[in-house]
Amino acid sequence: MTETTPSVRPIIENTGATATAAAETLMKTIAMDGNRINIPIDVRQVAERLGLEVQYLLLDTGTDGMIVKEAGRPCKVVVDALAHTHRRRFTLAHEIGHYVQKYQQYALGDEGGEIDYRDERSSKGTEPDERWANGFAAALLMPASAVRQFWAQGMTPEQLAETFNVSQRSMDLRIAKLGLR
Ligand SMILES: [Zn+2]
Repeated sequence: MTETTPSVRPIIENTGATATAAAETLMKTIAMDGNRINIPIDVRQVAERLGLEVQYLLLDTGTDGMIVKEAGRPCKVVVDALAHTHRRRFTLAHEIGHYVQKYQQYALGDEGGEIDYRDERSSKGTEPDERWANGFAAALLMPASAVRQFWAQGMTPEQLAETFNVSQRSMDLRIAKLGLR
């Protein structure tokens, strides 16, 4: 990044591990000024506090969402308006992951973008950038400390999925990832 523009957009500096990046993202957006992080995560507010434009549009069948950077414009994220709310939330969090990992470094005049297709997301997920964005999304929507806290209080996986407003599959994967069972 060579061009500096006056801006209040938070910069996420720790973009190595997904958990660290997601935690920093929460701290610098919805938890800024020492606010508590409410569950479920208001992922749209996270995006907007990062300076992203968020749009819900009718996308081609098989397209979950995309991130677009046009010259002279802030980054824009588009999410399939007809998808289930769980998928919309995950897609938005995934695109925020692409932004944090890559597009936040773009100068105002830069251009770029990518499209996320449903089949690539669910079945392949083999590309490093896609895996990173998926890991970031899971950590953003289901922060480890909050999941552990509710789990210790005796919440079932079903109650956790409902509480965090994520799909059961996402929560089951998160529970396994955190080694809770
Ligand atoms: Zn992606």
